[in-house]
Amino acid sequence: MQTPRGAHIGLTGGIGSGKSTVARLLVERGAALIDTDAIARSLALPGGAAIEAIREAFGSDVIDSSGGLDRARMRELVFADAQAKGRLEAILHPMIGLECNRQALAASGRTTVFDVPLLAESTHWRTRVDRVLVVDCSNETQVVRVMSRSGWTREAVLAVIAQQASRERRRACADAVIHNDGLTLDELAQHVDMLLAQWAPVEQSRRSSGARPT
Ligand code: ADP
Repeated sequence: MQTPRGAHIGLTGGIGSGKSTVARLLVERGAALIDTDAIARSLALPGGAAIEAIREAFGSDVIDSSGGLDRARMRELVFADAQAKGRLEAILHPMIGLECNRQALAASGRTTVFDVPLLAESTHWRTRVDRVLVVDCSNETQVVRVMSRSGWTREAVLAVIAQQASRERRRACADAVIHNDGLTLDELAQHVDMLLAQWAPVEQSRRSSGARPT
């Protein structure tokens, strides 16, 4: 018999929404965290699994002297050639998927949180997980948080927000939304606890029936 797996939760949110903070709270409560951004970055580091395929697709120009992806050069390419982004994603996405599967298997039995910044932009992730959790807050809160966390200017934060999915689009794919505006960190933790308690019976019934929750 296969070991039952814990719920798979897709976690997303705009920059400064508090997504990483919620991820940390979930980990503190026993969840395994799979960070898709970190996986994508590590694939393109020197010696990373994607480096040779990237070199083949784009040439040695995009590989820096240490043998990793030259991100600045790649950004220029993507800016100049609309298809380059798709070609890079076609290399990275299957590898990210494989590594996610590997890490999810290693977490077997535990609730597993997939931190996916671009979840709302992809249909793949919504079908891959049992539940989608969106951390949401006003654009103004995002600006204030990122300015104080990272020392960015207001304009720089607004530019990133404009590139990301809108709050409406993100919320439209959510099974649950945590409104992280005007909450203390303790209150945010309470929301996470409530959500886990709310989802636990669903998880229990999924395990006993072997079915994916609806
Ligand atoms: P994201 O991962 O969505 O970019 P973070 O989780 O890093 O955002 O949060 C951005 C900043 O805001 C961090 O410094 C974090 O500590 C802070 N923060 C997030 N939520 C709250 C909250 N409810 N109360 C106080 N600070 C918060």
